[in-house]
Amino acid sequence: MPWSADCRALINAMSMPVFVVHADGHIEWLNRRASQLLGDRVPKTIKCLLASPSRSEEFLRSMRRNQAFSHLALHLGAPMQDSYIASTRIARQGEVLDFWLLELLPRQWVVGGMHQLSQMVQRTTALKRERAAAEKTALVAQTQASRDALTGIANRRAFDDWLATALADQQQELSVMIVDLDYFKAINDTHGHDLGDQVLQRVARLLSGTLTRRGDQVARIGGEEFGILLPGADIHASLKVAWRLVMTLRNHNAGCPSGESWQPVTLSVGVATRLPGSNITGRELMRQADRGLYLAKQRGRDQAVHAALSGQSDPPRADAG
Ligand code: GH3
Ligand code: MG
Ligand code: MG
Repeated sequence: MPWSADCRALINAMSMPVFVVHADGHIEWLNRRASQLLGDRVPKTIKCLLASPSRSEEFLRSMRRNQAFSHLALHLGAPMQDSYIASTRIARQGEVLDFWLLELLPRQWVVGGMHQLSQMVQRTTALKRERAAAEKTALVAQTQASRDALTGIANRRAFDDWLATALADQQQELSVMIVDLDYFKAINDTHGHDLGDQVLQRVARLLSGTLTRRGDQVARIGGEEFGILLPGADIHASLKVAWRLVMTLRNHNAGCPSGESWQPVTLSVGVATRLPGSNITGRELMRQADRGLYLAKQRGRDQAVHAALSGQSDPPRADAG
């Protein structure tokens, strides 16, 4: 116990009884006034004092007359400046006995510590909040940077990132497709740009809805062009998917006539496949897909052509389902 002679002298000079107690209620020491009140019946614990009304009645009464303790702080001069007075309300048999126990606690142990801790907690919480807000802003910015504003699907930038990532895995096939709307300019010219926008939005939804396999990705990579990645898809599988997209639009046109928000439109699709172990670049793969697209346009549009099969006849349409 860091009770110096100065401390004891100061507390002894106080006009009120003061107990210095351990947390378990054990009385370490009491000042002169407390000793006077209790005579030779000084209990060992504060609990014992409270539990015995006959022994403490006089003491309690005296304490109640001394309720204004605010001046105590003034008395605690230099020797006690590192200590803190904690007041305690004690309940006995349901009755609250106000402020008659004084605990003198070293400031750095209890009050200082708690104060610092709460400041630390506040600082950590504020930091966490700031970091979460910054992460959210960054995520929103990142999402916006990789989304196409008109259709809400991924944009060219995201597509390029995906392609680079997919190419890095050389163990499996990777197919890419370029989807281009046929005679789209005519839709704009005849029905207006706004309707053209709505057609683009719906085509984006139809393409996304047709690509159901996990890992397949679709992005709007140009005005009326969409890029699609099919990781793991070989030449035949990718051509089948390409035809499925062509058929999706044909079926949609059949079931959904011209209107205020839709004009029938068909697709041409160029496909290319990177075989396992090949170190072809993304640019070259896209160039091959573009050649397939060019051939699809040349052969009358509304169809899919795989660059690797461009000299051969395409699979029968029945394969497309
Ligand atoms: P093709 O079958 O040869 O592809 O013919 P096309 O008319 O689709 O091709 P072209 O490249 O001549 O025209 C593409 C049109 O796409 C021109 C442009 O006005 C339109 N377009 C590009 N971006 C947008 C857009 O964001 N909104 C709308 N409404 N139209 C767009
Ligand atoms: Mg185009
Ligand atoms: Mg076009």
